[in-house]
Amino acid sequence: MPVVAIVGRPNVGKSSLFNLLIGERKSIVDKMEGVTRDINIGIVRTGQVSYKLLDTAGYIEKRDKFNKLVQEKIKEAIEGTDLILFIVDGRTPNPFDEDIALILKREQKPVIIIANKLDNSDMEVLADQFYHLGFDTIIPFSVSHKRGYIQINEIIEDMLSHLQYVKEDMPEENEIKISIVGKPNVGKSLLINRLLGYERSIVSDIPGTTRDSVDDVFRYSGYLIRLIDTAGLKRKSKVTGSVEYYSNVRTVQTIEKSNVVIMLIDAAEQITQQDRKIIEMVIRKGKALVIAYNKWDLKRTRSNDDYRQMEGTRKLTYKEIGIYHFVPVEFISAMDGYRIDKLMETVFRVDRDYHYRVPTAVLNEWLAKEFRETNAKRPSSNLRIYYATQIYSAPPKFMFFINKKEYVRKDFPRQAENKLREAFEFTGTPIKIIFKEKG
Ligand code: GDP
Repeated sequence: MPVVAIVGRPNVGKSSLFNLLIGERKSIVDKMEGVTRDINIGIVRTGQVSYKLLDTAGYIEKRDKFNKLVQEKIKEAIEGTDLILFIVDGRTPNPFDEDIALILKREQKPVIIIANKLDNSDMEVLADQFYHLGFDTIIPFSVSHKRGYIQINEIIEDMLSHLQYVKEDMPEENEIKISIVGKPNVGKSLLINRLLGYERSIVSDIPGTTRDSVDDVFRYSGYLIRLIDTAGLKRKSKVTGSVEYYSNVRTVQTIEKSNVVIMLIDAAEQITQQDRKIIEMVIRKGKALVIAYNKWDLKRTRSNDDYRQMEGTRKLTYKEIGIYHFVPVEFISAMDGYRIDKLMETVFRVDRDYHYRVPTAVLNEWLAKEFRETNAKRPSSNLRIYYATQIYSAPPKFMFFINKKEYVRKDFPRQAENKLREAFEFTGTPIKIIFKEKG
């Protein structure tokens, strides 16, 4: 039987919701021992599904500050659950909600936000305040008035009926999804073999296979990695030369399925127009990117000079790719393994930044300071930024609440992006900013 847990800070209405959902009978069928308090378990039967409902009321107590212990409590409360009803006081957002949201995000479970205490329809708009917590499903609710009761039952039914699918689809642990792109003969296959170890790549390279997309999953420095469509890459492309090598559908699909793209460039050659196009496409698709010059064994010398050569190439590259200055550039040899560890370290860092979430408090502290300075420099600007939240990660997306969109100067989004990068790094990952007027 699927398990649904009610989670939220004290006094938001967890127990009332529990009682409402299990119905009049209050059939508490079981108890589970927790760190500080037992969890009540009830069985709910709706038209479509039956599920176990956990009430975690009292798990977090009024005097609790958000700390490690509370984090552990929440984690414990949701262990083994399939769906979380995250209940908040819809009238007043609280920083504690954000802390809880962060934990729920990390646990990667489906979450429904229930914005409780919205007792009449005029108050429903208040539920929008909770989008910044990063979950798509938000229900304006009132436990005491049973507002939203039908809707919540429908959504729970819907989510639970998809659960089997979700479960199968969900990776056991966070995989880093990587694709490798580059023109023919740049060394993609060799790099894959190098990463997988020679033996494994032979095993997975089944001759005559007609399947179009076969990934390889393996561990590297403790990280779980999925190399997208290695089967396709290892199969020799009929296309030779540099004619439209990126335009093929497979490359695009491979990029779409990954989070981080490694773009290989032959160290003996320059970045081409096509490379630039692919860089642009990767960023436009909201993927993170690392550029790696391969065949560096042919270029490097045995002296320290090598670093100077790398720096030179790096500089030239940034001159070529201009606005994509946040993309890291590495130098490797797929042939002898030179600096492949360094490349992968960079990939891991980029993947971390890709998924990074700036806590709202930190973001707004930065914004206040940044804006004091900007205002001082340009007192004539009419633009007012009230506050900002990061509404998504992978890739990071920010929402700036402002007075009027027409006051946003054309160059401002890029400026803001650069400032965000300066403050929070975001290596290799695109970031997006959207502006929302707030009356
Ligand atoms: P793909 O078409 O991008 O998959 O390229 P391959 O991996 O098949 O490599 C094309 C050729 O370049 C092969 O002959 C490789 O041995 C060679 N090659 C790949 N990487 C390196 C490298 O780092 N150094 C040198 N010297 N040769 C390489």
